[in-house]
Amino acid sequence: MVTRRLFLLCFAALAFVFFAVLAADLPARFFPARVPEPAIPPSRTEFALSTVCTITLFDQASHEVYDDIFRRIREIESRMSLFLPNSDISRINAAAGITPVQVHYDVFKVIERAVQIAEHSGGAFDPTIGPLMALWGIMGHNPSVPSQAEIDEVLPLVNWRNITLDREQRTVFLASPGMALDLGAIAKGYAADEALAIIRAAHLKRAIINLGGDVITHGTRPDGSPWRIGLQAPHEELRTALGIIRGRDMTVVTSGIYERYFLYNGVHYHHLISPFDGRPARTGILSVTVVSSGASMDADALSTAIFIMGYERGRALIEPLEGVEAIFVLEDRSIRTTAGVDFVLVDSSFRLDY
Ligand code: ADP
Ligand code: MG
Repeated sequence: MVTRRLFLLCFAALAFVFFAVLAADLPARFFPARVPEPAIPPSRTEFALSTVCTITLFDQASHEVYDDIFRRIREIESRMSLFLPNSDISRINAAAGITPVQVHYDVFKVIERAVQIAEHSGGAFDPTIGPLMALWGIMGHNPSVPSQAEIDEVLPLVNWRNITLDREQRTVFLASPGMALDLGAIAKGYAADEALAIIRAAHLKRAIINLGGDVITHGTRPDGSPWRIGLQAPHEELRTALGIIRGRDMTVVTSGIYERYFLYNGVHYHHLISPFDGRPARTGILSVTVVSSGASMDADALSTAIFIMGYERGRALIEPLEGVEAIFVLEDRSIRTTAGVDFVLVDSSFRLDY
């Protein structure tokens, strides 16, 4: 039941981003009533990476481009999923404390970047969060609130410094048995970047990639104006837009408390876990959205890092980064944005501060 609810919630959240894109009157521009049914569907949605993935190609794309993109997304999933016993990640985790494991280039690249962002964020983002995710069970069928003793037992296993990477051999080694990688906060971003690479190689000028709310906009709208992406309100009215983000080529990635969570004795437990105390991070942030002209992989990991770090430290982390902006939605219903983001507030029950 819980899983079903989680799925529905996620679906609602993702559907929102998608509909927000459509709300920018694209269908009317592209498929006015007098034009016959297009032979090629304007978008394709499939379930992959444990989420809803929608690719929208606006040029005359062939079915093969959609096929190639989803094949690539599934390939990445098959290498990085925690839920597939033969994925590189599962093999690394099974060999923790025993032996280094040779992995595919995709996996090595993402883990290498994950380690860099872990270091850069002072360990707020930590790809060895696996044992804590398992303890809380937030992504599984039976989430539960662990005891302090259980958390204390697992905490020493969460430490990105105990990942050993060997570039030459392309191997990954986790120092102690029980350690486990979880790329849940970065893999979708990488998959989105790879989808974009296929779109570019096919010389398509306009597209929207939406992997469970990790969005990349490619090009501009047909009239040359910027895309408009709806920012979902971080409360239970999932289909309401808090505001609109405008931009051309950009990636928009959100980490928020309402994406995946469970309730226990009336307390809300979400899936963004602090590697410092082993509990869902409570920093006064409801959601943080990273808007970037760079890689979606980086934006994905950064949104999680910033969420864990809180507003002040999170903002300080991204201010120096070129082309990386953020929108913070705080518990006091204020919204703070960095200087370079084009954000229009829609929901007047929130207020925009700078
Ligand atoms: P979503 O997957 O809902 O889009 P995020 O990109 O923020 O949201 O990723 C959340 C996922 O990241 C969790 O499901 C878990 O797999 C992983 N995770 C949770 N806490 C951390 C953390 N402190 N560092 C790295 N990964 C984390
Ligand atoms: Mg993330």
